Amino acid sequence: MKEVFEMENRKSRIGIMGGTFDPIHVGHLILGEAAYQQFQLQKVWFLPSGNPPHKRNREGRATDEQRVEMVRRAISTNPHFSLSLIEMYEDGYSYTYRTLEQLKEQYPETEFYFIIGADSLFSFDSWREPQRIADACHLVAAVRNQIPSERLDAALQSMSRRYHSSFLKLDTPNLDISSAHLRKMIRNKESVKYFLPDSVIAYIQEQHIYGS
Ligand code: ATP
Ligand code: MG
Repeated sequence: MKEVFEMENRKSRIGIMGGTFDPIHVGHLILGEAAYQQFQLQKVWFLPSGNPPHKRNREGRATDEQRVEMVRRAISTNPHFSLSLIEMYEDGYSYTYRTLEQLKEQYPETEFYFIIGADSLFSFDSWREPQRIADACHLVAAVRNQIPSERLDAALQSMSRRYHSSFLKLDTPNLDISSAHLRKMIRNKESVKYFLPDSVIAYIQEQHIYGS
């Protein structure tokens, strides 16, 4: 038993924060930092997901390049955050199970902690190949949209049983913030200061993203 524990301990642990990041905001950053601390991760990788061609250059949205640049700026002041372009395929959508299986193959000695909000957890069953995702990582979910903590706990327990895998709770306060709401605020010329890093706000203004 002791041996197993030590083996486990030797494995490195990496957090994965996937998202559209249109734009990245403090909710994403706080989740990444909280997971880093709580699960003693070596690093948290931010993986912006690609948009298929028909979803690119949509009115009121950032381009793929702009989303990547916003992530780059947002994480630049945190030495244990880094950017991965592994999900930025030229031809569009990537699938989480494929990304994780690819990472497992590339880094067989690493345990991956996939960080999500409760809204993503509740739709997990309808993701492509959920069992393969659960087999490839620990799922780490944070409360969102004011759902009671007990409801999240119950969901995590039943998912752990269903997928024979670990679904863990990330201890963060409810953070009432979403990219959709921020896009709307920017369009309406409302201040978004402190909802996202100053460097990202400056970039949004320079590039006139979201009708700013
Ligand atoms: P949109 O409003 O465009 O859907 P979003 O704010 O949900 O944007 P995404 O890029 O879709 O951001 O989210 C990436 C991941 O981060 C998802 O798993 C989502 O649940 C989680 N997440 C985003 N914002 C929060 C938040 N405020 N609290 C908890 N989880 C969050
Ligand atoms: Mg979302």
